[in-house]
Amino acid sequence: SVLAHVSGIDLYVPGRPIESVAREHGIEPSAIVKLASNENPFGMSPAARQAIASLEGNPSRYPDSDSVALRDALAGHLKQDPQRILIAAGSSELILLAARAFLEPGRAAVMSQYSFISYGLAVRSVGAEAIAVPALDWGHDLKRMLAAIDERVRLVFIASPNNPTGTMLSKEDIERFIAAVPSNVLVVLDEAYREFTPAEHRPDVDKLLQRHDNLLVLRTFSKVYGLAGLRVGYGLGHPDLIGYLKRLQLPFSVTVNAQHAAVAALGDQAFVEQCSSANKTERSRLCAELEARGIRYIPSFGNFVLLHVGDGPKVFRSLVERGIVVRPVANYGLKEWIRVSVGLTHENDAFLRELRAVL
Ligand code: PMP
Repeated sequence: SVLAHVSGIDLYVPGRPIESVAREHGIEPSAIVKLASNENPFGMSPAARQAIASLEGNPSRYPDSDSVALRDALAGHLKQDPQRILIAAGSSELILLAARAFLEPGRAAVMSQYSFISYGLAVRSVGAEAIAVPALDWGHDLKRMLAAIDERVRLVFIASPNNPTGTMLSKEDIERFIAAVPSNVLVVLDEAYREFTPAEHRPDVDKLLQRHDNLLVLRTFSKVYGLAGLRVGYGLGHPDLIGYLKRLQLPFSVTVNAQHAAVAALGDQAFVEQCSSANKTERSRLCAELEARGIRYIPSFGNFVLLHVGDGPKVFRSLVERGIVVRPVANYGLKEWIRVSVGLTHENDAFLRELRAVL
């Protein structure tokens, strides 16, 4: 029966709408502090807001399937060949495209324990095996990940900074790792949180792409650019790889509004700088306060912090009752921890206040 066929899939429901959480607990949606999905608490650049409000494109027509304006704006911004850029409906779409392109039953992908949950889901959704390599100091153990690449493996995921732990790989380690991976295995380097890291520590992706055909770099407009609800991200890779992934993509997957808002957002780098700098200040303040209270946390390079609370799901529920929504990470095998996004000053204060009450 079809129902027997579909019952096997391992379900994960990402970020429930705040409205339904609020309704369940009899709280006004506007009174909820949402620190669950690593979005930008400042929202988006006014230029992006303007692009959406003025209906710059025509949503009654299909979008440009090549997202040419956005692709060319990115090519200019990154000083990259446009043929090396694929625009997609968030980096999530690219994760799935990579899995569909390189895996099938009998094949496998390597990733780190405690890395983004979608990697394993994408891999299993195409019938392949996800090999999770034990973490080292909460981050990727690159040596063991290399050793885990056997003849079935066609894909390996690395994330820097990593979600949900916030750890970061050095650019030298990333370079050495990619150089050591066999050339028939695609390395997906996920840089969803790149803009939150110190510029001097960011890998030289240009150089890496020149050297390695088997590299796909993922970036997104969902985090520092504040466009999570519009679903737009991009991949960087060899033109042949990009062309192949493009042929697997759903037609018109990037909407008119997403393309226009992303072009405008990209043009406002001052906003990106401000948000990244505010994140750093608030993250330090949050961590200093956790430290003062003797709460264990993992030092983070992203816009979120993983902290030890004892019973994660219970603390999550108690916080929800108090109007604070964070991310329980039991589905990552981290039952004693919660992940909190760095919000605005008053949101972080509210989180710290309610956390004190709950613990
Ligand atoms: N990669 C990482 C590491 C993430 O944390 C996320 C979002 N949580 C994504 C990719 C997917 O983001 P999006 O599809 O919105 O670009």
